[in-house]
Amino acid sequence: MLSKQKNTDSGVRAAGLLGFAVCAVLVALSAAASTAAPSDPRVEKAYRFQQGGWTYVHLEGSPSDIGFQHGYLLAPEIADAFAAIQLFDTRETQRDWEFFRTTAREMLWPHIDPEYQQELQGIADGVKAQGVNLDVYDIVALNAFEEVPDYYVPWLNKKNKSEKPGKSPKLVAPGNCSAFIATGSYTKDHQIVIAHNNWTSYLAGERWVVIFDIVPQHGSRILMDGFPGVITSDDDFGVNGEGILITETTITQFEGWDPNGKPEFMRSRKALQYAKSIDDYVRIIKEGNNGGYANDWLIGDRKTGEIAYLELGLKHTPLWRTKDGYFASSNFARDPKLIRDETSGFDVNDASSSMNARHNRWEELMTQSKGKIDVEMAEQFLSDHFDSFDKVGGSTVKNQPNERSLCGHVDVSPRGVKEWEWGPYNPGGAVQGKATDSRMAAKMSFVARAGHPCGADFLAADFLEKHPEYSWQKPLLRDMKAGPWTTFVAGQKGGE
Ligand SMILES: [Zn+2]
Repeated sequence: MLSKQKNTDSGVRAAGLLGFAVCAVLVALSAAASTAAPSDPRVEKAYRFQQGGWTYVHLEGSPSDIGFQHGYLLAPEIADAFAAIQLFDTRETQRDWEFFRTTAREMLWPHIDPEYQQELQGIADGVKAQGVNLDVYDIVALNAFEEVPDYYVPWLNKKNKSEKPGKSPKLVAPGNCSAFIATGSYTKDHQIVIAHNNWTSYLAGERWVVIFDIVPQHGSRILMDGFPGVITSDDDFGVNGEGILITETTITQFEGWDPNGKPEFMRSRKALQYAKSIDDYVRIIKEGNNGGYANDWLIGDRKTGEIAYLELGLKHTPLWRTKDGYFASSNFARDPKLIRDETSGFDVNDASSSMNARHNRWEELMTQSKGKIDVEMAEQFLSDHFDSFDKVGGSTVKNQPNERSLCGHVDVSPRGVKEWEWGPYNPGGAVQGKATDSRMAAKMSFVARAGHPCGADFLAADFLEKHPEYSWQKPLLRDMKAGPWTTFVAGQKGGE
């Protein structure tokens, strides 16, 4: 999501205003930080530190305390991430921020469980204590940044078509990520290996660098990557204390929304917090399905060695599972019924598309690597630059990253990704990667790399000079420099 290119004057004005707004927020924040009370009892158990380009936060306690700690410790990151999301959401949908707040208040909030209402309110209280002027509906709208602009708004536009003919922007469900999960004879130690890289706009992705270590009052401990101010991982990579490992990739061109459903950001968080088995995970994430941010879910249970693949549509929710095999995922839907009934015509036969080209590359890698897959190899897969469609050109093609490589670099592709409405040279692609296996998951641990998983740096000024059509992002687009592969573990107290 977050990368529709439109060059309207109003968008440029909005960017300028938002740039000003975020400066004002940050000035207020630094003024408040110097006078903040040093020891609020609610944050006693919480802490943060930086490592390898990531911000690690430990949160512990009641829902309200976890939220407060999150808001309090990450207030500068939340103010900054909020500005980026606000810029994108309003520009992409051509609706003002009040629309998103109203949606949060009237449609999403009543369908959020009390536990997570308390946590979201806690985040709003925490940022406020640091002088950031956001309320709970801003925070809820931020949490819904994957599902409202690209699922609810297209559904609403379609519904209202007779009222506003021809005025709605073209919005399509995005495709984010390359991922696999493997077990049994496919892996080196016959246990589970899981890996994921997040594909999104660089504007959002360069901010998607939080490691959350959460010890909730109820349910199990969670270690996951995440986005500032959001209660779920949202690109969805995590492990829990019950031995469940999860990730996902988005279903390209999905269409569907249920206004009476529960927000996806809550269902995905709840599933990771409460699942003790694959069956639990599937049951919880399906309960109250609103169709938002429809994903293919890769789920593993290290206690049994079993893995599963849930294609979570609104009408169709097929589930595959095995104790000996793999599931690869790269934004393609696999169920013919779901493709027919719930996508706007996803073409499984177009081998040149980003999703199918990556699908083919995954199949090659899994077959070639059978019996050898481990975390180190997973890191290489996430960094892979092979273009499985445009093989002509020999070795020069092999190292040419673009929109078809598992490590995506759409900013260098003259084609963009038409299925996501990503124009030529859209500044998006693989923005970070994570991997783990059963052994590491038993210790609540995974490896992660901030920035392109291959280690390449994205330099904003160079890019904007070559592609001024994206200058509306200039106020908030930063360099995205790759960090090292870094091991994180639940309960760790500091970096290095
Ligand atoms: Zn790369």
